[in-house]
Amino acid sequence: MTRPLPRPSASLDLDAARMERLTEQANRFVSDHLTSLGEQPSWDTEGAVRLGEELTRPLPEAGRPFEETLDETGRAIAKSYNTAAGSYMAYIPGGGLYPAALADYVASATNRYVGMHDAAPALVAIELMAIDWLREFVGYPEGAEGLLTTGGTLSTLVALVTARTVRLGDDMAGATYYTSEQAHSCIAKTARLVGLPSAGLRLIPTDERLRMDPAALAEQIAADRAEGLRPFLVAATAGTTNTGAVDPVPAIADLCESEGLWLHVDGAYGGFFRGVPGGHELLPGLERADSLVLDPHKSLFLPYGTGCLLVREPGQLQQVHGSEADYLQDLTATAHNFAEMSPELTREARGLRVWAAIDFYGAEALRDALREKLELAQWLHDELSALEGVEMGDRPQLSVVSFRFRSPDGDSDAFNEALLDKINARRRIFLSSTRINGQFTLRVCLLHFRTSGHDAKAALAEIQAAATT
Ligand SMILES: *Cc1c(COP(=O)(O)O)cnc(C)c1O
Repeated sequence: MTRPLPRPSASLDLDAARMERLTEQANRFVSDHLTSLGEQPSWDTEGAVRLGEELTRPLPEAGRPFEETLDETGRAIAKSYNTAAGSYMAYIPGGGLYPAALADYVASATNRYVGMHDAAPALVAIELMAIDWLREFVGYPEGAEGLLTTGGTLSTLVALVTARTVRLGDDMAGATYYTSEQAHSCIAKTARLVGLPSAGLRLIPTDERLRMDPAALAEQIAADRAEGLRPFLVAATAGTTNTGAVDPVPAIADLCESEGLWLHVDGAYGGFFRGVPGGHELLPGLERADSLVLDPHKSLFLPYGTGCLLVREPGQLQQVHGSEADYLQDLTATAHNFAEMSPELTREARGLRVWAAIDFYGAEALRDALREKLELAQWLHDELSALEGVEMGDRPQLSVVSFRFRSPDGDSDAFNEALLDKINARRRIFLSSTRINGQFTLRVCLLHFRTSGHDAKAALAEIQAAATT
């Protein structure tokens, strides 16, 4: 007696006409949104928490028309920081190049697996090529290997676990590692995640331009060696999040070489500026890093969720991440299994968006967009310097302009805090703040590909208006 086939489920597939209708709806939504960015506020989160509650529903048993989902998506998007607009100059702006979004659409809809080379050798080749284009763009040595991750923090995690395993093995006792007081918090965070002792973290002081002081680094390493500790890694920053300061990588690399330390460089914000003419002088020595973090979702204008790690010595990522499993026995162990070079086994075909964006525009257009941001920062720095009562931070090393205003009476921090609120309340531009030498400081980060001279002029006008009213 044979068992009958089970009752068939309703098909989850859509016919061509239905797919086209849905795609058309999504397409109209996106193009309406993107073509009206110039008129949208720079941020608007008023009532957003309430909206979030309103949109939160129990698990639906039955589906509903896609328009309704899209409509709610639009309502939620409208109540947020407008990170896709040229007026967004807070924190580190992102990107969102349109061809990359289309590549994501194709990648998701066709849903190919690229974690193991055998499953899609040509797609893996494309991703390897895209990584190699990023390498070439920043002038990192040929033969390096790399990985696309979801962002700078994940890239740093992979870099630190690799450096730790290669240099220390399983014994982390007494390990010490060095970064500057201005380094991104992801260094300390990922060091903790990979099991490095927190007590081994050394925050090296910076000079007047907020760059790591190599003499202080050398002293600290010597002091730690004298204590019998085990220095193993220096994490330099090529463009800090705070002010865009670039650590003196050549001097740090010399020290790492003579001390036998792993040199990690965090170029999550600044790395791609190496691709502009003159970029090697702005960001010298990056080619000497053992590992280099780049964030295509920052300074290459890709959508969020696109990070990159480059490692100079091929084979090290695999040495650390390689794994064996009975259920993977049909697949060949090769040097190009992303699953064996990273923490992820299954993930989207991330390389397509990087490839498609670079392929669509060409490197020159991207270099030129980055050049414009560097020049806008210099322009804005000069214009702001001329304002009454302003105290400028360091001349921008990359594309962050920092400043504060002297308070006519009393508390400067409170005055500048109120000033930031006033600027942002007008919603024409959006800025954020930081502390420099303990003082509340405003910063303008010019990095979005949509941020133009028009936006920089608007920023100047908005800052001026807020400071004088
Ligand atoms: C943004 C940033 C990071 C973290 O990258 P994510 O992509 O946000 O995880 C690390 N370092 C620097 C210098 C950054 O600006």
